[in-house]
Amino acid sequence: MRAIFFFLFAFLTLELGAWGFYGHKKINEIAIYTLPKPLFAFYKNNAAYIILHAVDADKRRYLIEDEACRHYLDGDFYERALPIDTIPFYYKEACLKYGEDTVKAHGIVPWHIQTMMYRLTEAFKTKDITQILKLSADLGHYVGDCHVPLHATSNYNGQKTNQVGIHGLWESRLPELFNREYDLFTGVAVYCDYPVKSTWKAYEESYGLVDSVLAMEKKVSKHFKPSKKYTFEKKGNTTIKVYSKEFSEAYQQAVGTMVEDRMRSSILLLGGLWYTCWVNAGQPDLTELKTDVIPANAEDAIDEENSKEKLKGREE
Ligand SMILES: [Zn+2]
Repeated sequence: MRAIFFFLFAFLTLELGAWGFYGHKKINEIAIYTLPKPLFAFYKNNAAYIILHAVDADKRRYLIEDEACRHYLDGDFYERALPIDTIPFYYKEACLKYGEDTVKAHGIVPWHIQTMMYRLTEAFKTKDITQILKLSADLGHYVGDCHVPLHATSNYNGQKTNQVGIHGLWESRLPELFNREYDLFTGVAVYCDYPVKSTWKAYEESYGLVDSVLAMEKKVSKHFKPSKKYTFEKKGNTTIKVYSKEFSEAYQQAVGTMVEDRMRSSILLLGGLWYTCWVNAGQPDLTELKTDVIPANAEDAIDEENSKEKLKGREE
């Protein structure tokens, strides 16, 4: 169902999938700067891959049946309000409690992050560089999704409240228009003693923001006629309907630093989880690892013109 939904409403999301392509790539990129030495050197050398493949998981959701449910969890199916205290932390326990079909039907993102961490830790142990890079990029994607409020509700595109299109507004349109105002540098990531708890905390925060995300859109919409709320922009050869700059600005004002804050939290948690997997794998020496998986067009992945300068700065 959700695959169909995403195609239907692509006109408002600009890019398919959570955070848009911009947000996911940015989260993976900046998370590299949070890493303590010596892991930073390894990720820096492979930054192009980690950034370029930040959206592979979204591309797979239309090809692999089991992929879609890894990107969200409908908190409202299980809990009426915060705190989240009835959903088991572990996937197996959740399946025992609700049945696996039910669990999958309502999304598994916090649990899938645990699976990805297990696989990444194993890849570090065997120094399988292809898997390390692939899993690191994918883990970044799911951590990013877990921080998006509209990935924490069954009303994921405002379809239940007559707010269709809000998904793309919050996670694509706002970061694409206002990212220059964001400060995404978070400081150094730390080892995570209880990654399961940290992941569920991130999810719970997302779930707690759902009402505000929706209420603010309603409030701002009262001041805009439909003709002012939307506009048309050319994207390649097609013309697409998007929220107008004026409306997006008003919504950005209303939500304040929420989008920036969720990106920052994603970045810091992702750096911490990468680092935790590496430490739990016994801190393998990665300096000699070489790879040929870097794509020919890797440079395209680094869309900020000063990215290389920033990387250089961290080296010193
Ligand atoms: Zn996703």
